Amino acid sequence: MENCIFCKIIKGEIPSEKVYEDDEILAFKDINPAAPIHILVIPKKHIKSLLDLEETDYELVAKIQKVINTLAKQLKIEEEGFRVIVNCGKDAGQEVMHLHYHLLAGRKLGSKIIG
Ligand code: 5GP
Ligand code: ZN
Repeated sequence: MENCIFCKIIKGEIPSEKVYEDDEILAFKDINPAAPIHILVIPKKHIKSLLDLEETDYELVAKIQKVINTLAKQLKIEEEGFRVIVNCGKDAGQEVMHLHYHLLAGRKLGSKIIG
């Protein structure tokens, strides 16, 4: 979608440090990491937020979770642990209106709920 930062990253119009890519999903490093490992996992389809998932998109959500688990093993963080966050809407502070899963790891993540 035009003027969407993450769609531009998918198209390669904005550079990113990719860590995983397939036909439907892209994972890349967050530009402003909140932890030593901070990866964003996104669907290539422009979906604005969790609330905008359509019936046929739920399969995609399962695939995103599978990518997160694969990355956790590759990055060897499955023993130390990690956190997955999705911000949805204003009160959660969602800044980019293209669904994204934050994968955070590499340090003790202080509070159970960030923020
Ligand atoms: P939100 O607050 O919407 O859940 O998270 C948006 C995230 O996208 C933030 O953690 C922010 O650092 C990241 N971000 C915003 N613009 C860019 C960009 O151009 N490149 C990358 N790699 N990350 C970005
Ligand atoms: Zn988009």
